Amino acid sequence: MSSGSFSKVAVIGSGISGAVCASILAAGGVSVTVFETGRGAGGRMSQRRETTEDGRVLFFDHGAPYFSVSDKEVMGVVRSWEARGLVSEWQVPFGSFDQSTGKYVDFDKDETTKKYVGVPGMNSICKALCSDPGVEAKYGITVGKVDWLCDRNLWSLISLDGQDLGQFDGVVASDKNVVSARFTGVTGRPPPLDITSSPDLAILSQDIPVRSCFALMLAFSEPLSSIPLKGVSFKNSQLLSWAYCDSSKPGRSHASSNCECWVLHSTAEYAQGVIARTGLKKLSSDALSKVAEELLHEFEATGINIPHPFFMKAHRWGSAFPAIAIGGDGKCLWDKNKRLAICGDFCASPNVEGFKMGLKLQSLRNFDAFPRAEQHLLQKTRSGAVVSIIGLIIMATLFVHELKYYLTTYTVHQMSVDVKRGETLPIHINMTFPSLPCEVLSVDAIDMSGKHEVDLHTNIWKLRLTREGHITGTEYLSDLVEKEHSAHKHGDSNDHHEDPNKNKNEHGLGSDAETMIKNVKNAMENGEGCQVFGVLDVQRVAGNFHVSVHGLNIFVAQQIFDGAKNVNVSHVIHDLSFGPKYPGIHNPLDGTTRILHDTSGTFKYYIKIVPTEYRDLSHRVMPTNQFSVTEYFVPIRAIDRSWPAVYFLYDLSPIIVTIKEERRSFLHFITRLCAVLGGTFALTGMLDRWMYRIIEAFTKSKTGSILRLQLMFDVSTESEFQEL
Ligand SMILES: Cc1cc2nc3c(=O)[nH]c(=O)nc-3n(C[C@H](O)[C@H](O)[C@H](O)COP(=O)(O)OP(=O)(O)OC[C@H]3O[C@@H](n4cnc5c(N)ncnc54)[C@H](O)[C@@H]3O)c2cc1C
Repeated sequence: MSSGSFSKVAVIGSGISGAVCASILAAGGVSVTVFETGRGAGGRMSQRRETTEDGRVLFFDHGAPYFSVSDKEVMGVVRSWEARGLVSEWQVPFGSFDQSTGKYVDFDKDETTKKYVGVPGMNSICKALCSDPGVEAKYGITVGKVDWLCDRNLWSLISLDGQDLGQFDGVVASDKNVVSARFTGVTGRPPPLDITSSPDLAILSQDIPVRSCFALMLAFSEPLSSIPLKGVSFKNSQLLSWAYCDSSKPGRSHASSNCECWVLHSTAEYAQGVIARTGLKKLSSDALSKVAEELLHEFEATGINIPHPFFMKAHRWGSAFPAIAIGGDGKCLWDKNKRLAICGDFCASPNVEGFKMGLKLQSLRNFDAFPRAEQHLLQKTRSGAVVSIIGLIIMATLFVHELKYYLTTYTVHQMSVDVKRGETLPIHINMTFPSLPCEVLSVDAIDMSGKHEVDLHTNIWKLRLTREGHITGTEYLSDLVEKEHSAHKHGDSNDHHEDPNKNKNEHGLGSDAETMIKNVKNAMENGEGCQVFGVLDVQRVAGNFHVSVHGLNIFVAQQIFDGAKNVNVSHVIHDLSFGPKYPGIHNPLDGTTRILHDTSGTFKYYIKIVPTEYRDLSHRVMPTNQFSVTEYFVPIRAIDRSWPAVYFLYDLSPIIVTIKEERRSFLHFITRLCAVLGGTFALTGMLDRWMYRIIEAFTKSKTGSILRLQLMFDVSTESEFQEL
């Protein structure tokens, strides 16, 4: 954890200074634990609960009886307490009683100084602040050791009885005794906090003088009507300084039924004298009773007519008021590096208003001393875990997507005039003719000048296929073409065979031809087909190639098919391309199936070839060709002399397309990754915050109704009790 961030803070003391600090820090999202020696919150603003021998329950504000406010900032805070119903103005007459003359003097007419009291007791403010959300108060625990763990940058707290109280990012000590020798005087142990290594806190090493006080709690069966005031300061008394009527405070009706409670304060001199005799150790009940009697006696000796109280008890305040304020105005005692703050009335002013030093923590927070994460980020919640898992899955998915996108190359297309000359054009063919046996099929290629291009460089194979499409034998087509070529004259593609009726008698059929006719007929009866595949290397000029029965002697063809209308050139094109394939190429004729039923005719495919160069990432150039195609089917008519065929008529584009394979920029990938992951992180953070707030609002409203129910139950029990 950095020195500028708090998440867990320990507050020592639940007096008004500690309680205010705890509440402020918790409101800022800090998780606060308050450790308090006493059984409840309040410190010197406590309320004492006493039960008389006959079972009557009495309440006394035996510490600070009230407080007034001069500071504007403090006034704002007090107003907020007033709004919460924690404090109320105490509007009663105050004055002095001069013991030497036996007269009341200096009636308090200054209405501008308002007196505030906690409702229903002085401790109610501290009690409420120590129950604020984010504050956990642990009572009956005296912090005996506060150690700075240098290596862990944390504070470790141990109780006086050796209990480990935990480790904290910061500590707020609200009582000077944590650094003072008085702690040793009371407990016999060294003070919990060693400030010798904190130069900013060196001022605390001086002994802060204090003034002591005894409070005498008195309960009378009837109101002290002889006293016209509810707050009386005594002049010229050696023992008494103040007397307050507790029962006259707002909200005390429950505590003073059928009686009137008063609290007397001794003079600091009297208390000092007693302490000088008895020491700082806990006073025995006898010693306290003696103090009580002396103070009551002094009260009665004033001459005021006072009935005998049915209850009386004295309480010693060893350090009721600090005699000096060491902090100075606006100065907060704190060690920024160790995140240790000291506050309390001994820092600012020796009264309740002294908690204003704690308010400084609030302003300090703005100067990066206490920046912290929001509450929902500090707490591990189930909703947070769900959001985190969803976020992680989204992030992983987006990361994989982005990585795939980065690793996948893209292509850039450029066009220019084709300046290549004299190269050949490779034509890759792979077709199946399911209705024609291999013996009758031939492949011819003719360029623009009409030159027959099937030569020795051409590698075309024919595979005999059964009716079911299984291979039964192979034949090298160029041999076949060479074999048949003498009887094959190329000119007009539609005019390969002469009129059969005219020539029938002029050409006698040899025994080879007879055998062949027989074989072919047999093959046709068996449903034999033929697969033609291989590569034709032709000149890079416009031309055509066609697969047909034109290689047959006309009389042989007539004998086999009994007319052109019976030649079924149904075909399936498995592959037709004009060069090697590059990634992403699409050859439009691949997978084309043209099957004829009860008809015959010639198929013509008009192909426009686009010369193409493919440059891969390593700058290797692959020359190839793309093409577009349109097709046309010419059904055969009775008067036609031509024999059906499958023609591929091609032409070359003068424009060459260069396709460059390129990789995406690594920086671009990183930028996209950051945007995507950062965006998801922010989004899930928002989602987590909303869910946290919704769940919190839901649980709060639920808790609120449970509390209301409890309150209703308590009230009804109380009224039943009162009726009894
Ligand atoms: C008799 C009397 C009359 C007063 N009259 C007035 C008045 O009229 N007007 C006015 O404004 N002020 C008055 N005051 C003063 C006022 O009560 C204090 O100024 C104020 O309450 C101080 O609050 P604090 O939080 O600074 O200290 P405290 O209230 O003393 O709080 C410190 C807390 O720290 C706890 N603590 C200390 N050490 C440890 C430890 N090691 N571990 C755990 N807990 C520890 C203590 O138990 C205590 O609860 C009076 C005080 C007294 C006693």
